[in-house]
Amino acid sequence: MKIAIFGYGNLGRGVECAVRENSDMDLVAVFTRRDPKTVKIQTEGVPVVSAKEIEAWQGKVDVLILCGGSATDLPEQTPQYAKLFHVVDSFDTHAKIPEHFAAVDAAAKAANHVAVISVGWDPGLFSLARVYANAVLPNGKDYTFWGRGVSQGHSDAIRRIAGVKDAKQYTVPVVKALASVRRGDNPELTTREKHTRECFVVLEEGADAAKIEKEIKEMPNYFADYDTTVHFITEEELKESHSGLAHGGFVIRTGKTGLQKEHNHVIEYSLKLDSNPEFTTSVLLAYARAAYRLAQEGASGCKTVLDIAPAYLSPLSAEELRAKLL
Ligand code: NDP
Repeated sequence: MKIAIFGYGNLGRGVECAVRENSDMDLVAVFTRRDPKTVKIQTEGVPVVSAKEIEAWQGKVDVLILCGGSATDLPEQTPQYAKLFHVVDSFDTHAKIPEHFAAVDAAAKAANHVAVISVGWDPGLFSLARVYANAVLPNGKDYTFWGRGVSQGHSDAIRRIAGVKDAKQYTVPVVKALASVRRGDNPELTTREKHTRECFVVLEEGADAAKIEKEIKEMPNYFADYDTTVHFITEEELKESHSGLAHGGFVIRTGKTGLQKEHNHVIEYSLKLDSNPEFTTSVLLAYARAAYRLAQEGASGCKTVLDIAPAYLSPLSAEELRAKLL
């Protein structure tokens, strides 16, 4: 399978790394909107190409992995490039997935391509865990906890405050809430009871720490609904202790069966990721394999992880899967 990357940020670098773990895939090009001369990649012999020249690559790429941001890049890029290639993206603005699906589906169907959207861990593997658990335990309750992990969106929101030089924000699940869910208590949990937010902030010289702490803690949508802790640290400490991109979380469904609803069941799926982008792109490549196979079978249009059978993800044949992993 000939794989190409569009956009060379964290996910772009992750795809480049993950391709090396998949012997049925080769990286053939990296496309960027920046001047290609300024984008240095890790793989020798693979060209970095201006996005303006991408049309010339039709027929030379089997699946294009779109690695742009969800906020503004992917809503434009995925429908645009589904016209030229089979594509996979990691669009993670949950509320806008139906709208994104409709735009991508129209473009992919018109061009007879397969596009898989919202691939990764959430949405992605966590979505699968939620759907399996819901189908199996119709009488139950869903819980998703994220963390401990870095939230890029919340870190960016702090960095936009005047007087802040740099910042990292961790989303942390509340241990007491997690324990109660795992016990099968079926608690009703508010936003504040499920997660806390921990911020590490580097100030500009002369900035008012108390004022900035207040501004962070009261920021609507991002921090106001959470118990938030703010630590002011030096630039060196931020670099040394907070430069990683670890993440993870838990999807739990608890449910009851039996004539008197006397039996409790707990389904739990968890991820503990040292590198969010490297893991996310490993999932993207498994779905790139599926996109390629579906296209070979004559499929077209937009799909999500919920539409694709697990056997399409594996490099093993159906016979091997039945013998080894069923
Ligand atoms: P980045 O901000 O690292 O990269 C986004 C784009 O920024 C790149 O594709 C790149 O495009 C552009 N860019 C511009 N200038 C630079 C620069 N100097 N250095 C690097 N990139 C630059 O985002 P991520 O890769 O971390 O994440 C992309 C999206 O993935 C996120 O918005 C998030 O929504 C999604 N995601 C989804 C997950 C899931 O589970 N579904 C999990 C994790 C992330 P270009 O080369 O064209 O300039």
